[in-house]
Amino acid sequence: EALVRPDAQADERAAESALRPHELAAFRGQPRVSEQLGLLLTAARQRGAVPDHVLLSGPPGLGKTTLAMIIAAEMSAPIRISSGPAIQHAGDLAAILSGLSEGEVFFLDEIHRMSRPAEEMLYLAMEDFRVDVVVGKGPGATAIPIEIPRFTLVGATTRAGLLPGPLRDRFGFTAQLEFYDAAALEHIVRRSAGVLGAELSDDGAAEIARRSRGTPRIANRLLRRVRDFAQVRADGRITRDLARQALELFEVDAIGLDRLDRGVLEALCRRFGGGPVGLSTLAISVGEETETVEEVAEPFLVREGFMMRTPRGRVATRAAWEHLGLRPPDAGTA
Ligand code: ATP
Repeated sequence: EALVRPDAQADERAAESALRPHELAAFRGQPRVSEQLGLLLTAARQRGAVPDHVLLSGPPGLGKTTLAMIIAAEMSAPIRISSGPAIQHAGDLAAILSGLSEGEVFFLDEIHRMSRPAEEMLYLAMEDFRVDVVVGKGPGATAIPIEIPRFTLVGATTRAGLLPGPLRDRFGFTAQLEFYDAAALEHIVRRSAGVLGAELSDDGAAEIARRSRGTPRIANRLLRRVRDFAQVRADGRITRDLARQALELFEVDAIGLDRLDRGVLEALCRRFGGGPVGLSTLAISVGEETETVEEVAEPFLVREGFMMRTPRGRVATRAAWEHLGLRPPDAGTA
């Protein structure tokens, strides 16, 4: 289950890190970001300087962590990894920052979820490479400034718009990651197959890429399941036919919809004539929580143009009817 969800699953971090490219040259897709970042890093290297702070924004699974690690590797610098929710108190952040070494990359995932006091401490650290540690309480409290080494902050967020302006402004470079096109995903899947030692045909790679929702994390995950199938049910070689059989077994359809996604579309078209229907009614009819339908299924269905949110409720588009192999009603829906 949940094969096509973009968030990392608890037990897949190790499998993922094995499939991470370590140099910018091996990072596929995101051509503009990649070129801009390459320039920034080369310039810093030539000057013997520490690169500016970098903000990476975009949906999960598109390579923010991977890019942060590449930045460190390209600068031959160590990397320290933490996340907004892990930093509850400003003191937690002070401890991390004062423990960094010169030139270290500090990767802060979900940077928009940091506490307010920590955020304020971070402004100062980013700008002046200094933290003010407050000693004592009440009127007798004093702030003791502590110098910290020059470092590169790599912040990651799902939406740059969630960050307060003053924080956003302190990044020298902001990259907005986009969903990947088929060619880039095919390349990534072929590379991953190579790392895993799996034999994969070009049309097999294309089949997996097409069902990956523009997301490398999903592509790699589907590849791992298809590889299991090839090993157990066949001779290990991944062809197009085999990829299709495997993904059919796992209920991932030709364009990457899974059972829940299809269930939502089916209910919308078959039971409610294409809508408009309220979200909670739709959720009940597929036996799911409202939040699950709204947060798990809906974003991709809307993004792909299968479903619209209207003030009167959810509406199926013509593409939805066609994808389900149903005849769209003549009048009404788009
Ligand atoms: P999250 O914020 O949810 O952790 P993320 O954007 O940080 O997501 P990563 O962890 O960097 O995503 O990437 C997920 C997986 O996809 C990793 O296994 C990574 O190696 C792979 N991946 C991402 N982008 C690329 C790419 N351009 N080329 C090759 N592999 C990639």
